[in-house]
Amino acid sequence: MLQYFIKHRELRQVTYIFKQLNCLKERLLLNNFDDAFKEFESCQVAFNEIESFSKQNNDEQLANSNYVFKCYFMLFCHLMLYFNALKKKNYANSWVLLQDCIDDVRHIGRFAEERLEVTEILKLLLVYESLYPYTFFASPEIVIEKSKCSICGKSMQNLECDHIKGNLYWGKIARAHIEEIKTLSAISIVTHPENKRCVLEFIEESITEVEKFKKIDEFLKLGLPYFQMFKINPQYKYISKGCITKRNEKCPCGSGLKFKKCCGKEMFLKYINYIVKPEYKIRLHFFGV
Ligand SMILES: [Zn+2]
Ligand SMILES: [Zn+2]
Repeated sequence: MLQYFIKHRELRQVTYIFKQLNCLKERLLLNNFDDAFKEFESCQVAFNEIESFSKQNNDEQLANSNYVFKCYFMLFCHLMLYFNALKKKNYANSWVLLQDCIDDVRHIGRFAEERLEVTEILKLLLVYESLYPYTFFASPEIVIEKSKCSICGKSMQNLECDHIKGNLYWGKIARAHIEEIKTLSAISIVTHPENKRCVLEFIEESITEVEKFKKIDEFLKLGLPYFQMFKINPQYKYISKGCITKRNEKCPCGSGLKFKKCCGKEMFLKYINYIVKPEYKIRLHFFGV
């Protein structure tokens, strides 16, 4: 659906939006993260005009692709907020902003078969995600008593409405607006929920904020461009607790096994070092105008 929007470059509103988005992407590449929504806001009128235009021409696909392009634009605004939080070392806050970007990408992915640079951006974001210390998340299970369709306002429970949840209708997404929650039946502790915003942290008083975000902090100290794809490889190191025998030598007890597999099992401390390997730089797509 991005392509359908792009094909309408004869509309001055579309080329205006292209120009603004190009500006935003240029700023992203220059680490100029002030006023993340500046360009997006300046495009509001253009987006609204395209919506009216699509209705006049009875072109639902244009209305829908207008919506998807807006989401695509929004992704770069959110990336700006995220990188800005990293730049300011505001790590705790940056986690939620990262989740916003990942949500945008997945949302775009649902509606766009041609994804431009979005697929690459998702890969990058997931590597950023791996730099955080979070592994457990809370996921609430709720029983919804009443919800209504965001398009027609009718109940979504008893099939009064014809809309399919999550589909696009004239540039609007059909959502279930929850009116009543019956019960919160449980909260599960999960490792890969759809929504990772609710982080579970086990209280470990010895760990300071600085230690908690050490991995991402160390990574950012390398000063790689934010759009640099990278790989993190763990490297294991062992430190002897004072024994003379080396790990791979035959055990002095005469068992014939290596020391590390026999009496030396408990004689070493294992350390992990993370080696960052820069890969390629993600190329942002610029629109010809
Ligand atoms: Zn409906
Ligand atoms: Zn032994």
